[in-house]
Amino acid sequence: MEQRPPFRGTPWYSILESLLGHVDREPTLRAVAELACKELGAERATVFLVDHSRHLLRGTVALGTEGRPLEIPLDFDSVAGWVCLTGRPIRISDVGGDLQAIDERLRHFDRIDRLVGYSTRSLCATPLRVRGEIIGVLEALHPECDRFSAEDAERLEDLAAVAGLVLHVAGLYQDIKDLREVERRKSDFIDLLAHEIKEPIAAVQMLADFATQMEHDPAERHRLLDRIVLRARQVTALVNELLEVSRVKRGLVLGEVRSVDLARLAEATAQGMEDLAERRSVTVQLELDPATPPARIDDGLVPYVFSNLLSNAIKYTDGGGTVRLCVRPEAQGVLIEVFDTGIGVPPGELRHLFREFYRATNARSRGVDGTGLGLVAVKEIAERYGGRVGVDSTLGRGSRFWVWLPTDVEP
Ligand code: ADP
Repeated sequence: MEQRPPFRGTPWYSILESLLGHVDREPTLRAVAELACKELGAERATVFLVDHSRHLLRGTVALGTEGRPLEIPLDFDSVAGWVCLTGRPIRISDVGGDLQAIDERLRHFDRIDRLVGYSTRSLCATPLRVRGEIIGVLEALHPECDRFSAEDAERLEDLAAVAGLVLHVAGLYQDIKDLREVERRKSDFIDLLAHEIKEPIAAVQMLADFATQMEHDPAERHRLLDRIVLRARQVTALVNELLEVSRVKRGLVLGEVRSVDLARLAEATAQGMEDLAERRSVTVQLELDPATPPARIDDGLVPYVFSNLLSNAIKYTDGGGTVRLCVRPEAQGVLIEVFDTGIGVPPGELRHLFREFYRATNARSRGVDGTGLGLVAVKEIAERYGGRVGVDSTLGRGSRFWVWLPTDVEP
């Protein structure tokens, strides 16, 4: 049998070992870029990642140009865009030469060079794939012509292939970390839920005991019964929210999927919240564009989107504040925005908000009631019907929560 040479001790083994030393995405990409420089004798290297939603390539790691936002449109008009869209590697000896001989769509725009004050002459670029799917482009650059050989180009492709495997492992690791985090939050939530339910039920029990001893004092008995009803309603509201979220998560359609007039629904929701807004002395304003087209969505679920965003805005805004609900057409769809002048969200916590059971530290510390489940349901509903959600916020100044839903295109 043919003797295979040992893998251990080879340069590729060392490369794999060094890349696997990082398990998070960003450091892995940095190590890939550093290796590209070292292995090819390049002066600079950039890893672009594709952002399909914004149709652009983002220079996530760019050695020598740290801290500058590098973004280019995802089209054939740039070397990185061309590599990403054609899925083909490329080696260019002189970017000032005739690139259109390679492909007539190909150009070297010095947009990024100008931005970072660099002057690329030769470059080598290859797609970065994770399990066959192109996720970005790895580029090695030099300010002199003819710096990369055919072997260098092959080395870069090999490096990109190894990087793809490592990034796949990094992705799995991230999934595991996310799952662990969900598990941890679920346990925390069960503790919290037990506490949230136990406390009002204990109160109901105590009040009921008192009420039975108050036969001789009907007024006091009446007062106790009112408090019992209030406490019981709190528990029911909590359980209802849990059931609602669980139905949404299981993908159940609650109503009928049909064309829904979102501006009208916004108006109805705002009317339903008048009491809550009045109690909290928060002004609610509506800005509804009459040209808003309908969206095709479950008419039983979509009211939840409005009521959750609006009730959150009211709940997390102090008396005297203002909440604005705006609905208008935007990019073949409808944009729903809820602005408030409330407590805002700490910057580091924004990205967690749409995760199950997550409640921001400022919301918790203020003792505002909540479950951390509403926004998860909003996101699920929007995404199930092809929509998107997002938030911008300034701590202590206010927030803007938005949902974009595609327009009803069916007849
Ligand atoms: P809940 O409000 O029941 O806790 P949500 O899922 O609706 O759950 O919201 C999750 C978290 O997002 C809230 O606990 C709060 O920290 C934050 N949040 C939501 N809406 C706002 C808002 N309008 N202003 C500030 N924080 C908000």
